[in-house]
Amino acid sequence: MSGAVTGSRLAWVCGTCQRECIPIRSESRCLCGHRYKEHQQDHPVGAWSCGSKGCACRGFFYIVAEGAWILRCRCKHKHIEHSPATHACVKPGCGCSAFDSPWVCNCDHPWADHKQIEVEKRNTSIMAGMMEAAAADINRWDLLRRGSDAPGGGGKAGGGSTSGGGRGGGSSSGGGAA
Ligand SMILES: [Zn+2]
Ligand SMILES: [Zn+2]
Ligand SMILES: [Zn+2]
Ligand SMILES: [Zn+2]
Ligand SMILES: [Zn+2]
Repeated sequence: MSGAVTGSRLAWVCGTCQRECIPIRSESRCLCGHRYKEHQQDHPVGAWSCGSKGCACRGFFYIVAEGAWILRCRCKHKHIEHSPATHACVKPGCGCSAFDSPWVCNCDHPWADHKQIEVEKRNTSIMAGMMEAAAADINRWDLLRRGSDAPGGGGKAGGGSTSGGGRGGGSSSGGGAA
């Protein structure tokens, strides 16, 4: 009710799951290399622009990270090697015109299915939506019994060139029934 508080935050949600797969924290990284907390909702240049001096970032762009692992572009260059203004890769000879990742989220949907939205801090509409969705899932358990013989995911056997392989460990929000 107190109108003075402009309490909005950014949430990174899956457009398919309609849920906040990975919460954006104050220490979360932006494509510009600065942290979420350095981006200001009411920045004079534009909402969620980076407040760090000299940074051209005009809008927070969430880069998912877990421990030492951090999201990379499909051009194999790091997020900070992309222009904060255009999101194009700045490496000479790289034709990447916009940061894009082949990474698949813990929710089994590709990174590109996710988007950033602005939500009110007080308004827990996302949470409420999540709970409703969870309840719906529970109610439909009977319809979703996993009796089918269909193998889960088509094994991606190809592509031997991928090194590293960021393990998608920490399933913070497992689909566990609670
Ligand atoms: Zn930024
Ligand atoms: Zn910045
Ligand atoms: Zn790129
Ligand atoms: Zn590149
Ligand atoms: Zn997701």
